[in-house]
Amino acid sequence: MPKEKDLLASVSNISTDSEFFSPMPAGYKKGKTRYVFVVGTVMSGLGKGIFSSCLALLMQDKGLKVAPIKLEGYLNIDSGTLNPFRHGEVFVLDDGMECDMDLGTYERMLNQDLSKANFTTSGQIFSSVLHKERHGDYLGRDVQMIPHVTGEVKLKLRNLAARTNADIVFVEIGGTVGDLENAYFIEAMRELAYEEGLGSSCFVALTYILEPKTLGEQKSKAAQLGIKQLMQCGIQPDIIACRASNPVSEKVRQKISLYSNVPFERVISLPDSASIYMIPAMLRDHGLDFEVARLLKIEDRINLRVERKAWAQWCDFTDKIGSARHSVTIGITGKYTSVRDSYASIINALEHAGIALGCETEIKWIETTGIIDQTAAEKLADVDGIIVPGGFGTRGAEGKIACIKYARENNIPYLGLCFGFQMAVLEFARNVCGLTKANSTEIEPDCAEPIIDILPEQKKIEGLGGNMRLGGRDIEIKPQTMAWELFGKTNSVRMRFRHRYEVDPRYIEQLENAGLVFSGKAPKQPIMQILELPSHSFFMGTQAHPCLTSRPLQPHPMFVGLVAAAAQKQYPEEKMPDCVKAARKVSSLKT
Ligand code: GLN
Repeated sequence: MPKEKDLLASVSNISTDSEFFSPMPAGYKKGKTRYVFVVGTVMSGLGKGIFSSCLALLMQDKGLKVAPIKLEGYLNIDSGTLNPFRHGEVFVLDDGMECDMDLGTYERMLNQDLSKANFTTSGQIFSSVLHKERHGDYLGRDVQMIPHVTGEVKLKLRNLAARTNADIVFVEIGGTVGDLENAYFIEAMRELAYEEGLGSSCFVALTYILEPKTLGEQKSKAAQLGIKQLMQCGIQPDIIACRASNPVSEKVRQKISLYSNVPFERVISLPDSASIYMIPAMLRDHGLDFEVARLLKIEDRINLRVERKAWAQWCDFTDKIGSARHSVTIGITGKYTSVRDSYASIINALEHAGIALGCETEIKWIETTGIIDQTAAEKLADVDGIIVPGGFGTRGAEGKIACIKYARENNIPYLGLCFGFQMAVLEFARNVCGLTKANSTEIEPDCAEPIIDILPEQKKIEGLGGNMRLGGRDIEIKPQTMAWELFGKTNSVRMRFRHRYEVDPRYIEQLENAGLVFSGKAPKQPIMQILELPSHSFFMGTQAHPCLTSRPLQPHPMFVGLVAAAAQKQYPEEKMPDCVKAARKVSSLKT
């Protein structure tokens, strides 16, 4: 991968006289990579990421190499400092990039590990431009939105193309056409399409069709105006996807086609779908995959044999959706209980495990503020399993510990994720080891028994952006433990982390002597990564976030284990798949 410095050396067309400015990464082959640009009109939240990932999946399944990228309009350098309550969960990539939850959708759909090259924000773009300006890289020019900032965006996209050697780069622009924030992204796309030449790019506009209850009919005006706004930016959409609660009528699609110069067959109806995993089939039914291949003139790169196999495998998975014979309720304790997006990956991981096991997973959100040992039983009466997810700060922590105590004492399947792992250690220390004052210094900085304490490497860090223990790390698994069985008797697994605190190594021996098993550890440091209780049907915790790497065709073993154990609890009369065997069977599915 060429360094940024080398990339600048290859900047073409720069001279103080020229108005052209299009930095090209070293090794960029014009014409090799095509671009699909996905923008939204009318409103945000239309599912641009979902649409883009589903279309990318269909193209990947044809043997094409695809690389997605999301361009975010905000000025934050990454999503790490964003409140999940406002912006959905912070997704963490293997290289430690903290990014938008859409990257999770791309990873899950495409079954690909992505990197920071697949995500950028206005903050990153501007900071890079300003850095280059100070460095004197603009040859005395006045640094402008066009061509320098747009040039930086094009450089990002071409960099991704060069680095991945992709047949198609899928570019998703955050926000809505007309936002001040993303206007320069849209201009950069226009320039890129022009520079790459005819047949190099395809513009998809997602729009929304209103259906006011009082009228009882679909109205297309907002969509028309939104598309007109895009055309005012010099962009002629090739495809218009009409989002709506119901199928979009032919009449409405005809109207949109006429007003936007887009052939009727390419104005498609995309009503709400019960599962996002059904959307690739919807797009395929519209023939969108081959239409895109035609528009991009890459039909000759398609491998139909690869496609047949990949599609059959995908359909094996989607056929199982909605055909579950059993159902379990998993209680998730959480601070952000009102916003489902804050826990998107956990919801997905449960869905993957449930589909694989033929067991519907209902979620019950549990607000833990105010829960105490005496009320835990009542609050958890109707759940078959409990997840305490990641979290920060003190609110609701004592209630979570009360829930964990109830799960441990009543043999209720339990999975603790990151903060939930730390809380499980505290519960065990207090109620089994008798360390009644056990706490985390995140919650009580001067506590007498700081069982959970800040990582040594974190002590000297100042500020809060991008500096937790972040990204993928290997975990050494202790043989003959449940974790070892769940992961298929392997000695090492990789998971993703995002934390500042850990189990203080001084307490490990005492905890282990009392029966807590640390079945996963960091290979070279005394950082505890997985815990379990051998006497319990399923009691596990991990300092990592296994939900981030659960994929539809490869559900994460820890989630499969939890759901299988919960199903056994719910259906004691039936012989349900043993959680360990189940995890091994379904998680070993290869794509
Ligand atoms: N707040 C805890 C820590 O920083 C847990 C973090 C999390 O759950 N992501 O270690």
